[in-house]
Amino acid sequence: MSELIKNSAAVLAAKLAAGEVSAVEVTQAHLDRIADVDGDVNAFLHVNTEEALAVAAGVDKSRAAGEQLHALAGVPIAVKDLIVTVGQPTTAGSKILEGWHSPYDATVVKKLRAARMPILGKTNLDEFAMGSSTEHSAFGPTRNPWDLDRIPGGSGGGSAAAVAAFEAPLALGTDTGGSIRQPGAVTGTVGVKPTYGGVSRYGAIAMASSLDQIGPVSRSVLDSALLHEVIGGHDPFDSTSLPDPVGSLVEAAKRGDVKGLRIGVVKELGGEGYQPGVQARFAEALELLRGAGAEIVEVSCPNFEHALGAYYLIMPSEASSNLAKFDGVRYGLRVLPEDGPMTIERVMGATRAAGFGDEVKRRIILGTYALSAGYYDAYYGSAQKVRTLIQRDFDAAFAQADVLISPTAPTTAFKLGEKLDDPLAMYLNDVATIPANMAGVPGLSLPGGLAEEDGLPVGVQLLAPAREDARLYRVGAVLESLLEEKWGGPLLAQAPVLGGSR
Ligand code: GLN
Repeated sequence: MSELIKNSAAVLAAKLAAGEVSAVEVTQAHLDRIADVDGDVNAFLHVNTEEALAVAAGVDKSRAAGEQLHALAGVPIAVKDLIVTVGQPTTAGSKILEGWHSPYDATVVKKLRAARMPILGKTNLDEFAMGSSTEHSAFGPTRNPWDLDRIPGGSGGGSAAAVAAFEAPLALGTDTGGSIRQPGAVTGTVGVKPTYGGVSRYGAIAMASSLDQIGPVSRSVLDSALLHEVIGGHDPFDSTSLPDPVGSLVEAAKRGDVKGLRIGVVKELGGEGYQPGVQARFAEALELLRGAGAEIVEVSCPNFEHALGAYYLIMPSEASSNLAKFDGVRYGLRVLPEDGPMTIERVMGATRAAGFGDEVKRRIILGTYALSAGYYDAYYGSAQKVRTLIQRDFDAAFAQADVLISPTAPTTAFKLGEKLDDPLAMYLNDVATIPANMAGVPGLSLPGGLAEEDGLPVGVQLLAPAREDARLYRVGAVLESLLEEKWGGPLLAQAPVLGGSR
């Protein structure tokens, strides 16, 4: 194992700029690591060896010629397989897209290419990003590098596990109800859901368009800020893209200061139903922030109680409409009916029956039902009203606090298979992350230490008002450094994955 893979993206960038290492060496070290451990972890659905090395070689050549390069040029990255890429397959974790190649790049991918970051490959996910464990992937589950019998979170378990297993220093995820932050929490990585509209969704296969957001996955707060600045900003190809530039996130992460800042503990996101070890680490994080000069206040968001229920109407409704395009005609798989007339409806039926997994079918049925005439007002309409109430709760809370804080997930990583037969138990894992998507506000999860009872990572979540993503980095960087002091270094340096015992 090359020592290079242990470095953060920021350190790799510095070493590359100083000419201490080449981009080819850095990229090859990560490709070797993937070859060594991904048979166990299954974070990658596709490894992009040749192209990644060619991009790296190009960077080395340009650097040797004295060209001005982006700070992250030559720093490799993994991309969630919900985001379309030219030259690599995109499956969305579904059989229905197996073998399909996108004719265009997502805007975020174009930005990675412009920065000349080698793309290592595409990472595993729950089918169409529906799930909290990556067990709903049609291509087998990803395993948590801390314990291979446990889930890496979901839907972006592949991206989180790739970063946690040191297969990639950075990755892209998507977060509709927590799919960047909850995998971050259970793998001991950092994950950020930017403000809705802050990062272009063009080329992210839509799950629930009013909730989806692309964001960074990394091993440090600063690394997420660096990546967020690469992918953020206005995009005319996304009609929901904000006009504003992304802001000085890296500077906020470097400045890191909480003196006099009001940090609001959300009363409804904690307590009963949260694992004792999660509660204990969370309470410690609060003490550390208080010690650093923050003012800890309690805020109440009574409507958060209904967020999960409303989400599971809005999300399936939008998904049922978004997934209607997978009809056996336009993309990927086509299955012909075995007998009887060959009508378009019957081809569609046979293709969807074979191409979609159980969870996707469940949500399409739920969403179609919620949108049907006669039920629309009762279900979708009511859920939209709840959404407004959640937004008002956030407004009231942000009048009392600059940043909100909660555990990211109620538990640490559960065992593979544990919740597979109980969709409601699976859904409950997102209880703390969903409110941010419902209101479009940004959220960051960072590792808060290990739970006493099982020795597994616990996530702490920070939330800020829309367009105030910089605050997350400012507070996150302080908490990260206080926690590293307490834990004697970055949490992942203590993960069993680096022991090389496998
Ligand atoms: N786990 C949540 C769900 O299953 C969130 C998914 C996501 O954010 N993509 O819907």
